[in-house]
Amino acid sequence: MRLFVALALPDAVAQSLMLVQGGVPGARWQTRDQLHLTLRFIGEVDGRDTAMLDEALSSITAPAFELQLHGVGQFGNKQPHALWAGLRPSEALEHLQRKVDTAIRRVGQPQDSHKFTPHVTLARLRNPPMPKIVEWLTYNALYTSAAFRVDAFHLYSSHLSHDGSRYGQEQSYELGDDDGKVAD
Ligand code: ATP
Ligand code: MG
Repeated sequence: MRLFVALALPDAVAQSLMLVQGGVPGARWQTRDQLHLTLRFIGEVDGRDTAMLDEALSSITAPAFELQLHGVGQFGNKQPHALWAGLRPSEALEHLQRKVDTAIRRVGQPQDSHKFTPHVTLARLRNPPMPKIVEWLTYNALYTSAAFRVDAFHLYSSHLSHDGSRYGQEQSYELGDDDGKVAD
């Protein structure tokens, strides 16, 4: 199974993202079901590793927090291959991301060499017309979502296919109230 850990987005936030999806010919815009915020990519693992990962992720305690999407950007510089929405800087998100990363490395998964760049991918691109990209980035620079509460993170499976990846929530992990404990 191909796995990654991510946050889901509430409907209102997803809808606001879908309003900025347009204006770039040839872009493959992510559907509602594809929108997510990756905390940590894991990759291909077997059933035994999946069970170990699940156990490690279950033991994470961290507080729930508020998040707000803000701004847009692209990956690929002169040859953009993705458009994304960014985030207002969040200490709590960084904190959770570090805990998730540590838990995953502890059960023997290789380190992720990339620096964590929190984003929500909005589109995949192939040889897009550069002026349209610049226009899209300028036009949507001030994009801001409503603030929303993050009270869980999820283990997702990813199924690659020709018409875009399908993601499935395999497991969910609750975040606690302010002291980090999950209320019972
Ligand atoms: P595709 O690879 O077909 O373009 P995808 O990238 O959405 O689709 P995956 O490659 O399975 O699907 O990735 C799942 C999630 O993990 C995505 O949010 C992706 O951006 C992220 N991701 C993939 N590879 C890495 C990586 N090496 N480092 C960090 N994040 C990654
Ligand atoms: Mg990929």
